[in-house]
Amino acid sequence: MQKVFNFNAGPAMLPEAVLLKAQEDMLNWRHTGMSMMEIGHRTDVFQQLVQQIEQNLRELMGVPTHYHVLFLAGGATLQFSMVPINLFTSQKKADYMETGLWSSKAIKEASKFGNVNIVAQAKKEDDLWTIPAPTEWQLSHDADYFHYTPNETITGLAFNHVPILKNIPLVADMTSMILSEPVNVNDFGLIYASAQKNLGQAGITLVIIREDLVKLPLSITPTLLEYATHVTAQSLYNTPPTYSWYILGLVLDWMKEMGGVTAIHSKNCRNAERLYDALDRSQGFYRSSIHPAYRSKMNVSFDLPNDDLLKLFLHESHASGLCCLKGHRAAGGVRASIYNAMPEEGVEKLVLFMDYFMQRFG
Ligand code: PMP
Repeated sequence: MQKVFNFNAGPAMLPEAVLLKAQEDMLNWRHTGMSMMEIGHRTDVFQQLVQQIEQNLRELMGVPTHYHVLFLAGGATLQFSMVPINLFTSQKKADYMETGLWSSKAIKEASKFGNVNIVAQAKKEDDLWTIPAPTEWQLSHDADYFHYTPNETITGLAFNHVPILKNIPLVADMTSMILSEPVNVNDFGLIYASAQKNLGQAGITLVIIREDLVKLPLSITPTLLEYATHVTAQSLYNTPPTYSWYILGLVLDWMKEMGGVTAIHSKNCRNAERLYDALDRSQGFYRSSIHPAYRSKMNVSFDLPNDDLLKLFLHESHASGLCCLKGHRAAGGVRASIYNAMPEEGVEKLVLFMDYFMQRFG
């Protein structure tokens, strides 16, 4: 079978070492004589696993001790609701940046629970998408929190800095960039990310929350939607997605072996540079609609001169083992998602293909 590089936006490519380890463990995990999938979540062996995973995550991200690390279900989408439900005070007021579809969805949910002030929206300048500079933001200054999406997965529009706010907890949906670059957790009140891009398999969601933000929300709040429930139960209030948790653990082991976030970040930068360089030297054959200052290092989107060439590009790339390059249904075009697991070899092969395609049709 030919080697395939999977550029899907999520569920996305996993490191081969992770898949091989999962295969090795499949029938007999940690000498139990059982598959990991069959192990109870209250057993000692599972408890040891979750402790190790939390420790590795804290180490890789540098999570300080006054933050809780939670592993929840419901995807990042459930966090769109859990954040306002838990973080709103009696004034129910939050600031949101609107930079794409995912932040719009977060805004829609938060608006059900309180007042959302849209601080700024992504805008086009000279036909390229940009994020307004902080000097243009309409902050409310007394918001319960400020929410933003550092990387909009669909278009590949990314912040190039962490917003600096005084005394307002910063909440970030890091779903499509978690662990891809170093971050200072102390800058944030709450971070969330679903797993199916950089953390492993779909089904589990990471939440990192500063301890003073774990409050008791309204008494009608369902138990499972309170962060306090999961803090007290150490993410084991009910049956968790055990296998997704296990795969997340293997991904973290792999990241440590690769040299941690700094080493992975260098590799990610090289991959992104190589791809954007291919776009820039194509003299408009491959067109990105993102301003160079806000280009994502995780999702590189671009278009071709017409629909026929786009179809041919997608067809031929797939046949060459470069899979799942079709853009999101809301955006069209091509999108190459190059998360942590994408080796340099995959991007090199894509760039060679792009050059060859352009030679023939450019
Ligand atoms: N936020 C971002 C930035 C995403 O990319 C996605 C999924 N692509 C989501 C939220 C929603 O995640 P989930 O499907 O896990 O709920």
